[in-house]
Amino acid sequence: MAMDVLVVGGGAIGLLSALNLARKGLSVTVVDRQHAGGESSWAGGGIVSPLYPWRYGAAVTALAHWSQDFYPRLGEQLLAQTQIDPEVFVTGLYWLDLDDQAEALAWAKAHQRPLQSVDITSVYNAVPVLGAGYQQAVHMRGVANVRNPRLIKSLRAALLAMPNVTLQEHCAVSGFSQEQGRVVGVNTAQGALRAERVVLTAGAWSGELLATLGLDLPVEPVKGQMILFKCAADFLPSMVLAKGRYAIPRKDGHILVGSTLEHCGFDKTPTDDALASLKASAIELLPALADAEVVGHWAGLRPGSPDGVPFIGPVPGFAGLWLNCGHYRNGLVLAPASCQLLTDLMLGNAPIIDPAPYAPQGRLGVR
Ligand SMILES: Cc1cc2nc3c(=O)[nH]c(=O)nc-3n(C[C@H](O)[C@H](O)[C@H](O)COP(=O)(O)OP(=O)(O)OC[C@H]3O[C@@H](n4cnc5c(N)ncnc54)[C@H](O)[C@@H]3O)c2cc1C
Repeated sequence: MAMDVLVVGGGAIGLLSALNLARKGLSVTVVDRQHAGGESSWAGGGIVSPLYPWRYGAAVTALAHWSQDFYPRLGEQLLAQTQIDPEVFVTGLYWLDLDDQAEALAWAKAHQRPLQSVDITSVYNAVPVLGAGYQQAVHMRGVANVRNPRLIKSLRAALLAMPNVTLQEHCAVSGFSQEQGRVVGVNTAQGALRAERVVLTAGAWSGELLATLGLDLPVEPVKGQMILFKCAADFLPSMVLAKGRYAIPRKDGHILVGSTLEHCGFDKTPTDDALASLKASAIELLPALADAEVVGHWAGLRPGSPDGVPFIGPVPGFAGLWLNCGHYRNGLVLAPASCQLLTDLMLGNAPIIDPAPYAPQGRLGVR
């Protein structure tokens, strides 16, 4: 018998979509061409906010706000279920020397977000390791970061514990199988898999897969590089961001500094230039890092989409096929709302938010 749902791609979006659907009693298989969660969802920083939330439109904002409220509960649920802690760490975030501070504050007022302009002396008091010379800052309390590699691990463990879930890893999907205008499964290196419905959650690779159906999905890889330091656990009490670069403290003193934004196809080789540039930014933000060792340097491919608005919903003209992809720079923060919205739509329940802005209908080209 065909399973209910086949999820193609086991990043944060695929795994959480699968978990939501499986919790509703559906039989779900997640297929990933490697170990699940090894791509962008592992590589990201895990800030539970868009980097500059006021620069996004209403569609991203709606998903972000729902998700931000939900994240602590998601962390607690996963910890209780799997004993793996995704470490949702509420540190707050300081933005330093913004060019558009007035716009940021106006946006916060309109959306009732706790973003405030703060005296720079109070910032240096709160974050004594901050580099000298910053003139102004805004602060948002309550902003968290999630330790995304642990989030993935925990999601994967939660799925493996469910009798109605199959995780098929190291199994690449090459295309979709169709019968009478309906998508009825996928083709893989290990043979065909059938399902009532297929959800495409293949991150930056989603466009390639949809192209096999003659559809043009505007999702393209955008490379991001990141470096990692290990400091004392109390080294950095808050996330800080200046000139597009940020530092994220984990609970155990690891500090992530990111990130680059590079349009160079599917190549994700870390480069010496990026290493030097990220190190320079790290030292400008937090001069003490000049004496710290870089303990990690990697790159990931974000699923870039126009205005960062993900595609969530059914694919017109291909009954049985659904999308949840194209989350660009915000896939970790947007995951809870995106996956809940997909679940609502697939089950015919009242959606948590208006699904119209994310609908694939009218946003896909024909090749
Ligand atoms: C440096 C960097 C920093 C970031 N920082 C943040 C941040 O602070 N906050 C935030 O919210 N977001 C951040 N992001 C973005 C976030 O990581 C992504 O938006 C998110 O992880 C996308 O999740 P996904 O599940 O769609 O894609 P992915 O995690 O890339 O998962 C896609 C999966 O599909 C699988 N796949 C692909 N093709 C096939 C195939 N043919 N067959 C089978 N499986 C396939 C892959 O193996 C992979 O596991 C960052 C990203 C980067 C790179």
